[in-house]
Parts: sequence; structure tokens; C-alpha cells
Amino acid sequence: MAGLGIWIAFISQCFLSVSGLLQRLEHPVKADGSLSLVVIGDWGRKGTYNQSEVATQMGRVADKLDIDFVISTGDNFYDEGLAGIDDPAFESSFSKIYIAKSLQKQWYNVLGNHDYRGDVEAQLNPVLQKIDPRWICQRSFIVDTEIAEFFFVDTTPFVDKYFLKPKDHKYDWRGVLPRERYLSKLLKGLEMALKDSTANWRIVVGHHPVRSIGHHGDTQELIRKLLPIIEANNVDMYINGHDHCLEHISSTNSQIQFLTSGGGSKAWKGDIDKDGRDGIKFYYDGQGFMSLELEQANAKVIYYDIFGQVLHVVNLSKGLRSTFGVQKSGSSPRSSVANLGPITVWTSISSLTFEPQKTKCSTQAHKYDDDSRTL
Ligand SMILES: [Zn+2]
Repeated sequence: MAGLGIWIAFISQCFLSVSGLLQRLEHPVKADGSLSLVVIGDWGRKGTYNQSEVATQMGRVADKLDIDFVISTGDNFYDEGLAGIDDPAFESSFSKIYIAKSLQKQWYNVLGNHDYRGDVEAQLNPVLQKIDPRWICQRSFIVDTEIAEFFFVDTTPFVDKYFLKPKDHKYDWRGVLPRERYLSKLLKGLEMALKDSTANWRIVVGHHPVRSIGHHGDTQELIRKLLPIIEANNVDMYINGHDHCLEHISSTNSQIQFLTSGGGSKAWKGDIDKDGRDGIKFYYDGQGFMSLELEQANAKVIYYDIFGQVLHVVNLSKGLRSTFGVQKSGSSPRSSVANLGPITVWTSISSLTFEPQKTKCSTQAHKYDDDSRTL
């Protein structure tokens, strides 16, 4: 942890002034200019529902890739966020679960809808870093690395039903109301930051999916309000959680790769919208996580299950060719001259199927509890 202390000091010094409307943090890349990280979402259940098993495999992969940091796509603490800064769940669901040495790196967290059901300001409070210095959580912010900029977006306030039909749930909207002003400031800040970005890779991270064929499906509010901005500003990837699955959508309608990593604990077998197949390249309805490796011209995304088994690989290349290729496992890349922008995409390992993956231990990879179904 001593090394991490140095990182914290370094990063604190690198907190730049608020750039535009979003705070900007800097994170250094490796000596060779590359960057690697793991992504997890929908996790905090005190180790249950295979959270600990996923954490163990994350530790192994993080060690192998010598990761630079971790991204959490939100729903950090179930069922109702943190009750306060002294909530023991912070340690029992985070510090005492992700214990591998390789995971003692910065964690950049966004908030999910479940986090808004608790004391939302507790998760945002820097005092948590005294308990665990890895923790960084803000509503919307930028992590600037030399080769990539990560734009973290607070997506929960976009979703109408949390305001209009909250059912029995109470949401902590401190700092969000009036809602329209909050959203318009957020979108303006994001757009300004994207327009100013000179990074080779532009990656947006939010809790809710823009596109998904999982339980919740597409988030219409994000399709209307967020998608036009990220499409117009050459974003390469949109990474999210919320649907408790692993998923890759690469639609011909958009240059953006839609990547879901929401398998940090509870998952639901067969919870899939089979009508929403457009662009789906991979869907896994069990628990797991994702890694991301970035170089100047190439990016690799890998999805893993709770056994650390590789389920799906996405390769992205920032060549100048306007080609789009899909490579099935064991075959050569197939390219066509579709004018989809300066990015080449090919996938391997998994078959190009949207059917739920059948793993040899599927009963262990999906834990059911119909009485406490929380998504
Ligand atoms: Zn959620």
C-alpha cells in the first residue's frame, strides 16, 4: 500500500483545475506509453453472489496485465448504497473483497441507481480515502491519460422513472435538483470536454447502458440526450453496467463500441431481449468482468467469467482505413468497404451469438434469488 500512497500523492498533485464544467484528473501511462485496466460493475454484496469469486479472477488478470487502475461502472453497494461514511459495507463489500495486490490501484467509480438510494454524498466524500485510498468517486469527471481520455458520466439522473415512478424507493437527489439544470450543465460540460479532447482514444463510462439487450435494455433517455453528443465527437467506446451481464454491441448505425460490464455479483440467466439483436456481437448472462488494454493504435477488450476463462475478445485498430471487419475464431479478418470511420473492429473467441452462453458450471455462474431480485 506504500506504493499506492505515492500514487495518491501524485494524483492529488495532478488534480487539475476544473476543466470546463467537469473536474479533470490525470493518470500516468506505463513507461512504454500503454495503459491497461479492468472494469467491473454492479458488485457490492459483501462477497455473496460470486462477488468474491469474480474478485479473485480480477486479481489474477490485473496481475497479468499489470493494470494501471480499475473502473467501476456503478451500483457499488447493494441494495441501497451507503448509509453514511461510516457504513461498514464500504469495507465488507469493497476493501475486504478486492484484496489482491494487483487491485491495490486507483478505483474510479461512477454512481448507479442503487447508490442513489442511500446517502449518495457519502460515496462522494473524500474522507473514504482515509479508510481505503483507492476510492475515487465523483458524479461526472474526466480521467486524462496520455493516450486516452475517460469521461465518467452520472447517468442515474437522466432516467425519468426514478423521478416519476420511484415505487417504494427513495432516491437521494441532493446536488441534482433542479434536474433539468443539472442535466444540461452535465451535457454541456461533456460536450465541451469532448470537443477539446486530443486523446487518441475517447471512452465514455456511465452506469446505464445506451444500448443493451439485457433486462433493462436500451436507456431511451440516453439515446435521446447523450448518444448524439458522443457520436458527434468521435467517442470510441461507451462502457456501462446496470444490466447484470457481459455484452458487446457493435452496430453499423454507430462507430461506438457499446461494452457492458455489469457482472460483478448477482446475474440472471436467460434475461435477454431476443428482439433487440441489432449489432449484438456477444452476450453472456453470467458473472464476470472485462479488461481493457490500450496502445496508441490498438485496443483490446477481453471478457472473463468467474473462472477467469476468456469468453470474448474485441480488437480495435485506429488505422486510417475506413473498414469494418469481423473475425470469427480461427478465420481471417473479413473486411468490407463500409464507411464507418477510422476504426477497425474484429472479435474472436466467442461465436457471434446472442444466445446465453452455456458454461460447464452455469449453475454456479448464476445465483438465483427470486425473493430479492435486485437489478
Ligand atoms: Zn443499476
